[in-house]
Amino acid sequence: MVTMLPESRASFQLQLLKVGKGSLAEFVLQREEPLWIKTHWLNGRQAVCPAACLPDVDCPACVEQIPRVSGFLVVAQLVAGRMRPFLFEVSDSSWARLRMLCQMEKLEPSAGLMVCARRQSFNRPISLEPVGLSKGGVIDALAGWRKVAGAVAVVFRLPLPEPGHEVSDWAASCEPFARVTVVRGLAKLS
Ligand SMILES: [Zn+2]
Repeated sequence: MVTMLPESRASFQLQLLKVGKGSLAEFVLQREEPLWIKTHWLNGRQAVCPAACLPDVDCPACVEQIPRVSGFLVVAQLVAGRMRPFLFEVSDSSWARLRMLCQMEKLEPSAGLMVCARRQSFNRPISLEPVGLSKGGVIDALAGWRKVAGAVAVVFRLPLPEPGHEVSDWAASCEPFARVTVVRGLAKLS
């Protein structure tokens, strides 16, 4: 008899790819669109808004500040001769500019697109430029929204997306946990 083990948090864990000031990184997109999540900065920490992807949920932090919209992507980068997966965070403005550049170069922001990320300074958004389509840069196991949602869940200590979940089911399961973190963060502010 084969028993299905529950998926572990470790199996979803991905290192966050950071681009330092004045440096650049090249990587391959594994999906065509980031997972968009609203977050708050509370006490110098990024916290997921309980209303992250849910339209009819009220959030005590949204009363105090406009949430920031962050996009999360699973990307693969060539490290020591092997494609390795990372989690990468983008702003909506960086992503919109990448899409515009893709259009100009008749490329699709799809899985397999090689992207160059540059950061000129810490107070400016990362600039993303399409490089071209990569050969062999797509890792099948990284496709699907659960991979990126799972990695985000590990970073923010939220429940993992379950098999069969839609994004809205997962967001609903995260809501009470995100609310506790946001309420704690707000209490420390006052
Ligand atoms: Zn909020």
